Amino acid sequence: MTEFSPRGDDRQLLPFLPMIYVAWADGVLSADEVTTITEQTGEHLTVECRKRLASWLDPESPPSPRQLAAMLRVVRTTARDLDADHRLNLADLGRRLADADGSPVDGATGQALAELEAALGVVGEEAAAELLAPERPEPEAEEPEPQFAVEAMTALLDGEHAATRRQVRDLLAEDDFAPLPRPIATDEHRDRVLERTQALADRGLGALSFPEEVGGAGDVGRFIAVFDTLAYGDLSVVVKFGVQFGLFGGSILQLGNEQHHRRYLPEVGSLALPGCFAMSETGHGSNVRDLETTATYERASDEFVVHTPHPLARKDWIGNAARHGRLATVFAQLVVPVEEGSSEEEHGEAEHHGVHAFLVPIRGDDGQPLPGISIEDCGYKEGLNGVDNGRIAFDRVRIPRQNLLDRFGRIDDDGRYQSPIPGDAKRFFTMLGTLVGGRVSVASAAVAASKVALATAIRYGARRRQFGPAGEAEVAILDYQVHQRRLMPRLAAAYAHHFAVRWLAGRYADESADARETETLAAGIKALATWETIDSVQTCRECCGGQGYLWVNRFAALKADTDVFATFEGDNTVLLQLVSRALLSEYKKRFSDMKTYDLVGFLIGKAATEIGEKNPWTTHRTASDHLRDPELHAAAFRYREQSLLASVARRLKKRLDDGMDSFVAFNQCQDHLVALSRAHVERVVLDRFQEAVAAAEPGPLADTLGRLAALWALWRIEKDVGWWLENGYVEGNKAAAVRDEVLALSAELRPLAVPLVDAFAVPRQWLGPIAFGVGTERV
Ligand SMILES: Cc1cc2nc3c(=O)[nH]c(=O)nc-3n(C[C@H](O)[C@H](O)[C@H](O)COP(=O)(O)OP(=O)(O)OC[C@H]3O[C@@H](n4cnc5c(N)ncnc54)[C@H](O)[C@@H]3O)c2cc1C
Repeated sequence: MTEFSPRGDDRQLLPFLPMIYVAWADGVLSADEVTTITEQTGEHLTVECRKRLASWLDPESPPSPRQLAAMLRVVRTTARDLDADHRLNLADLGRRLADADGSPVDGATGQALAELEAALGVVGEEAAAELLAPERPEPEAEEPEPQFAVEAMTALLDGEHAATRRQVRDLLAEDDFAPLPRPIATDEHRDRVLERTQALADRGLGALSFPEEVGGAGDVGRFIAVFDTLAYGDLSVVVKFGVQFGLFGGSILQLGNEQHHRRYLPEVGSLALPGCFAMSETGHGSNVRDLETTATYERASDEFVVHTPHPLARKDWIGNAARHGRLATVFAQLVVPVEEGSSEEEHGEAEHHGVHAFLVPIRGDDGQPLPGISIEDCGYKEGLNGVDNGRIAFDRVRIPRQNLLDRFGRIDDDGRYQSPIPGDAKRFFTMLGTLVGGRVSVASAAVAASKVALATAIRYGARRRQFGPAGEAEVAILDYQVHQRRLMPRLAAAYAHHFAVRWLAGRYADESADARETETLAAGIKALATWETIDSVQTCRECCGGQGYLWVNRFAALKADTDVFATFEGDNTVLLQLVSRALLSEYKKRFSDMKTYDLVGFLIGKAATEIGEKNPWTTHRTASDHLRDPELHAAAFRYREQSLLASVARRLKKRLDDGMDSFVAFNQCQDHLVALSRAHVERVVLDRFQEAVAAAEPGPLADTLGRLAALWALWRIEKDVGWWLENGYVEGNKAAAVRDEVLALSAELRPLAVPLVDAFAVPRQWLGPIAFGVGTERV
């Protein structure tokens, strides 16, 4: 093929050049397209031109990139002086080129150009604009002015413990607390994490929840504030901190007596005595009631003998065990021989009082395991490798009677077991109930970790540009609808869970709150908040493309470290079953004067009537103000919870009435029970979010929070819309309107996205550098 020459006969081809260029640039010309072009142009061209054209249209010999570039050059040079604002299609462009060249086309040729454009099926205006597009201009880097005061939002989020949170953020901003530039050797990481934990203890932050008499501040709320703010940084430090002060220290605080407190807590709080919380065993993780480690009381020596009967009964996953721990709170089955002066082995008859906690020294001052103690390292983990998780086995290790943490059960001076709670099961659950601080803390830390991921991804999304209209700056990826749909509901979820975990922590710190209810709420909120974080971190990583994969941008560590949040402090799925059991027993209690079965019928009938009479969702209204109404969301969430509760109670009741074993009955309804728990927790989260909106001073801040709450609620409804449709609560048109509203709110909140993540006040060094354009600058 020969190149186009702007002189001589070729000038006749000039008006067709844009079309021919676009046809080739779009891909390979089909035989049909070649025929069309040949027919449409044939009669307007000289024989010579026709030959030339045929050579350009030969699919066997397509133009080379150099020849295409030359065609483009001719078009652009000829069109240089055309009015830039004019929206031209390809036919217009061809005509204008001919005009500019001083050889205007006649009417028939103009007609042929228009027909050719239609036949080729290209969007002519866009194609012409792209053809003539100048270099893309530099994007304007500015984000819109925030519509609310970022500091005011930070103050609202910081809440009661603002000063403590600022103190921890300042600490995290110090060089000593800087993130690791890359993963380091396990031992080095563990030592480093121990050093950071020591630095926190030295500032008195570890002992905050301990009583003042033992060097603490008696302030569990502040302790949780430290814990979750630390979660902006290295999560290994957070977990080490939690194991030492929250779990190990907390077990002594909650299960021990004053002597235990005085003797141990000062050294636990200063980290002079590193310790472990040794509950899980290789054979029993979720089911801790059936742990197999034994602690047998021996009257003669007034000691307990702590023993691991077989390898599956060894303690497993125990934080602080592999390297640093010296004392461990060991959960074991308490066995008390019946006969005076006997041990179980000698006489075989003994009382079994269920799981209790014992303080067992595991390492000497030289750091070596004590006699009878075997310790193994769990090995390299997916994440949290700064924490030394290990396995511990006991070979008839003797500890004094005083080492039983005896708040709920003790051996008296006569060697007899005494407990203020007679039943083993009730005692066990009461004991576990005092340890829910771990769940509250993990839920709070999970929300903090999601804030870090969101702050990096949203700031990056506002800067990173890909694609865009011809001749204009490329578009920031956060301005794409799908990108907003991926990130904005997650941002709303971080705010939703923020208010839920803060409320939960407040309840936990409030001694007058119902402890059983707090325990149920902690289980449920921990499950949903940690799952949301895991999903959100992954979404954020993907939203940062390849940059998100770089270690320095933090997603690798965030993903690896938060993954296990769904498992430790109670496996999430198991925790949700705990929630549904509590809901069912509360349900039974509330209506104990009615037979459950009648009650279910009554409730379902009532619900059905309500749907028909006043379900706001059955109207055909789809306007935004209606769909954003907080009452509408609350009604839907309440209806789902009540309906699932009533229906699962009915299913269980039927099975139990038929004589089915309750374990089997619960198992047959397990999926339903988990759905109920999720519905319950989501309703609780929504209530807390709506309360927070109502409590905020009216103005831009409250307005922004209100829109976030609406987005979160509608997004959750959208996710589970099948259930509402299945139950006739929502109709198809409304379901579609919910989807549209999620998109609309996501777009509407987009200009606020950066201030909304800035309000989290994550220390700069703990955000990925891409959040500030580092590594992706133009120059
Ligand atoms: C990094 C890390 C640190 C840890 N630190 C400590 C520590 O310091 N101290 C400590 O005592 N423990 C610690 N643990 C242990 C942790 O608490 C347990 O791993 C957890 O309780 C889950 O137990 P498991 O691993 O035995 O899982 P399993 O209980 O075996 O669960 C495995 C799977 O079975 C499912 N499943 C179990 N039961 C049911 C059921 N009834 N119905 C439906 N599904 C079910 C679960 O959902 C899960 O998906 C740690 C664990 C890890 C991974």
